[in-house]
Amino acid sequence: MKKLLLFDVDGTLLTTDGAAGRAFESALIDVYGTAGPIGEVSFAGKTDPQIAYELLEGAGIPRPTVKAMLTDLWDRYLKHLDDELVSTVVRVFPGVAECLNHIEARSDQAVLGLLTGNIEHGAQRKLDASGLGFSRFRVGAFGSDSENRNELPAIGAARAEAITGMRYEREAVVIVGDTPADITCGEAIGARTVAVATGVYSRRQLEECGPDFLFDSLADTASVWDAMMR
Ligand SMILES: [Mg+2]
Repeated sequence: MKKLLLFDVDGTLLTTDGAAGRAFESALIDVYGTAGPIGEVSFAGKTDPQIAYELLEGAGIPRPTVKAMLTDLWDRYLKHLDDELVSTVVRVFPGVAECLNHIEARSDQAVLGLLTGNIEHGAQRKLDASGLGFSRFRVGAFGSDSENRNELPAIGAARAEAITGMRYEREAVVIVGDTPADITCGEAIGARTVAVATGVYSRRQLEECGPDFLFDSLADTASVWDAMMR
């Protein structure tokens, strides 16, 4: 059975060490005049539109008003992100490059993809700046596709089917991520879940969410591959 491997980005493959958060904050202020309670809200595991609604509704801006200007927000965000990434070294976590190379070399067994709360072009900027590269991922489901992360696995599976001509049943889909929200979204379609404790959540916090597999990092390529292919 060919597998569809859908990787989260921030906290799983890489970190921008706050650069993306700063770009998001600047864009919110440009477009809405406020970034709301940004110091009190965690971005981890959330989609970009979900974060925008949470912060702006927290500042008393009604949802329809937020929604009406989201396109402007993403334009400003990408501009600020480009500026931030000029002076930011995007850190790739241990073993990630090797893990992705390993998967690509076995494209007869697995399709390499993304499932991330980032808007698509945000994911592209981060992955290209990191040196990992965006275009190597054959499919993706993004925050720009749905505010609700739980809807993203099905979107990723449908795109993979359109590209490869093969159906990916639930047991063929593997979600790899660093937050409880990654595990939950995988469970939403009965996918296999692989949690990795390179983000803000500890191994213990992730363990409580019951992922199928749990790693400290993606450094042990052989073990990670075995888990994904089970
Ligand atoms: Mg993440």
